Amino acid sequence: MSTTSHAQSGLTGAQAARRLADEGPNALPAGRRTPAGVLLIREMVHFFALLLWVAAGLALVAGMPQLALAIAVVVVLNGAFAFAQEYRADRAGQRLRELIPAEVKVVRDGRRTVVNAADLVTGDLVLLEAGDRISADLELAEVHGLAVNESMLTGESLACRPGEKATVFAGTFVVEGEAAAVVTATGSRTRLAAVAALTRSATRPPSSLARELGRVVKVIAAIALGVGVVFFGLSLLLGMEPSTGFLFAIGVTVALVPEGLLPTVTLSLARAAQRMAGQKALVRHLEAVETLGATTFICTDKTGTLTRNEMSVVRVWTPGGALDLADPVCAAEIMRSAVLSSTGRLVRADGRWKPVGDPMEVALHALALQAGSSEEGAVTRRLPFDPVRRRSSVIVDGVLHLKGAPDAVLPLCAAEQAEQAEQALQEMSRGGLRVLAVARRSVSVACAATGSSTGTAAQNAAGTAADVERDLTLLGLVGLEDPPRPDVAEAIGKCRRAGIKLAMITGDHPGTARAIAEKVGLLGSEELVVTGAELPVGDEALGELLDHDGAVIARATPEDKLRIARALRGRGHVVAMTGDGVNDGPALREADIGVAMGASGTDVAREAADLVLLDDHFATIVVAVELGRATYANIRRFLTYHLTDNVAELTPFAVWALSGGTIPLALTVLQVLALDIGTDLLPALALGAEPANPRTMDGPARTGSLVDRRLIRRVFGVLGPAEAAVEMAGFVAVLMLGGWTLGAEPSPALLAAASGTAFAAVVLGQLANAFACRSQTRPVGRAWWAGNPLLLWAVAVEAVLLLVVVGVPALSALLGGSFPPPAGWALAALAVPAVLAADALHKAIQDPKRGRPGHSPRTAAPCPLPGQGER
Ligand code: ADP
Ligand code: MG
Repeated sequence: MSTTSHAQSGLTGAQAARRLADEGPNALPAGRRTPAGVLLIREMVHFFALLLWVAAGLALVAGMPQLALAIAVVVVLNGAFAFAQEYRADRAGQRLRELIPAEVKVVRDGRRTVVNAADLVTGDLVLLEAGDRISADLELAEVHGLAVNESMLTGESLACRPGEKATVFAGTFVVEGEAAAVVTATGSRTRLAAVAALTRSATRPPSSLARELGRVVKVIAAIALGVGVVFFGLSLLLGMEPSTGFLFAIGVTVALVPEGLLPTVTLSLARAAQRMAGQKALVRHLEAVETLGATTFICTDKTGTLTRNEMSVVRVWTPGGALDLADPVCAAEIMRSAVLSSTGRLVRADGRWKPVGDPMEVALHALALQAGSSEEGAVTRRLPFDPVRRRSSVIVDGVLHLKGAPDAVLPLCAAEQAEQAEQALQEMSRGGLRVLAVARRSVSVACAATGSSTGTAAQNAAGTAADVERDLTLLGLVGLEDPPRPDVAEAIGKCRRAGIKLAMITGDHPGTARAIAEKVGLLGSEELVVTGAELPVGDEALGELLDHDGAVIARATPEDKLRIARALRGRGHVVAMTGDGVNDGPALREADIGVAMGASGTDVAREAADLVLLDDHFATIVVAVELGRATYANIRRFLTYHLTDNVAELTPFAVWALSGGTIPLALTVLQVLALDIGTDLLPALALGAEPANPRTMDGPARTGSLVDRRLIRRVFGVLGPAEAAVEMAGFVAVLMLGGWTLGAEPSPALLAAASGTAFAAVVLGQLANAFACRSQTRPVGRAWWAGNPLLLWAVAVEAVLLLVVVGVPALSALLGGSFPPPAGWALAALAVPAVLAADALHKAIQDPKRGRPGHSPRTAAPCPLPGQGER
């Protein structure tokens, strides 16, 4: 480490390995989580479950032990199912968190390297810079303008400025400056472990989806309770036994309450989160899946997201003219200053060159190595890069070496030098190169020495940077190339089709930013390129200016990003904003979806983000948006499916009540429960797993609420009535074929056969409905079987369950519906064409332009599958 003066040289690899074996990994012990058994029991004693238990108790008292047993089985099954879903969702979330990278820069064997945070051991020499999360308790050995945010530990939001020998704690963040520090405690011996044991659960406010679903469940529950009360009153009026009436009332209520809905939603969000992780998009909480689907505006940065972040120096200009890089030695002097003021390095380890630190600085180092620039010298002071100053400098042996954005450096140089550089600068940035100006200056010993003392005002980088970074001699300009990522253009096209607006926000030069925006096809037709300083002051004017597709904001500061996020949200946009820097936290939090970089970028940004891109790739955001949309569509699919069933379940009770009891109840309470918790379950789950289809990104994001008019119309005006009509017709027809007349009391055997028919009609109707629900706009066509194999299995199981429920005498006796007569089966089977026809007709009326059933154009591939219309 020639450029730093660390008191220690770190551990050797062998020492570290030995200590790791002794001390164990640097990880917090898994917290005491609620035991699975307790969670399972909780699922069985919530309000609705308690209602059912009461019902079971009453049944027992009333001398109906088989009913009591059936209800108990229902509660336990339902609870176990809900538990299994919640548990899987929870586990998925945990695994996602473990995927978020945690790496630490350390010195091992006298060399800089990067290790996993879990492999830190006491005595390790850790190198910290702005944006890093501190992964163990550390004693500071060398400090350069260090500021640490300890709010996650102490709640104090003001950063503190610890000096040498001070301790900084695991779980806090470096927000400014640099330091070298020695690990004093790891894992459970850190202060964080003590605090974490006290407060483990950081709860988030419920997301809009959770709130909306909660509302839906509440409305249905209220309806269910109302129905129960009305039912009870009527049963008394009609002379039913009060205990029986009460029992049935409770049964109806509970049957109609969609207890299974929330866990199913949670699970489908978790499944989407896992799929996203497979595509290198990590959501940090499940609600983000839903918000992503609603995204209408993406603000992306340039470096690393649209470009590869694989930089190389392609141009060097000095006041003496452009240098020929075929002979790198001629650049030795300028590259020496560029590298001394950097910390990113190309390091040789195990026979290979490995980049450590900022890719741009690594590129500078790569050229410096070729040029043979010396890195020798004693560092007395570092003024690290920050996005407002836009430069970084170092004092080595009484000379200040500085590099930074040309407009942040040239004004500090002599005027004629700056003028001389202007043309080269314009030319390089027009070509899309990132340009750095490199300069230096001798400094007096007194001034140079101040930085090494501890904890004084001299440490305030902002105050003293201006003192030393002046009167510079320009050494030249360095132009770096960072080619665009290959599939960015395609992803941008997808956003355009999906009605998502884009803006590029970068700290880079407007010329460079514009050139890259043009290259990847982001630049909008207005060709709006503004710098952060030119942005209007008022949020309203700002929102108006930027609410166009393809704007480029260059020389933007983190504060600009924050304001842009706020202004766009103020215009009703759902904003995704990328960020990688230390100061990007507020903007990431302000945006609806804060997006951080997993590969490059700072820990601070990752901590504030909702989405972490493991590959830093812009296209990955678009993939996540697509999956988010697909998931939302799936939730609507199974909501539609489930609510249709509710209509069919409620109808017999309504008909019974409205007919004043002259038409007997078509379904028993237990049959309703069997539908809800038996036959309906798997198809609903399978609909939640419907794969994203190619049209997901056609047209703008959905607006409005989850349960909108369209869904209500479909369920209560089309699918539900079609299913219920066949159900009631089959029921009454079987009764009448058995000799029943209106108002008469049918024989128990006849009633059972008719009930079995009604039950079969609902199950078969739901079977068809499962396919109808795959699309909101396209009718079930000839390729109905393709695209979702899970659904085929679910439906097959549903059919078998139907046969079991009505065919096994013990079960049908228990539930109250026997095997239908042949005529009953024939009538029940009509539910399939009835649902499909009603669905097709409705879709044809609603979207006359959409594809006709089964007519897949032979030329177009992939052919329109039935599930592909829903967005
Ligand atoms: P971007 O949006 O491209 O990531 P940054 O905010 O990181 O932009 O950088 C803004 C400008 O600051 C860059 O164009 C460059 O000129 C300068 N710069 C970036 N990194 C460094 C650094 N490590 N040292 C000095 N100057 C830098
Ligand atoms: Mg950057």
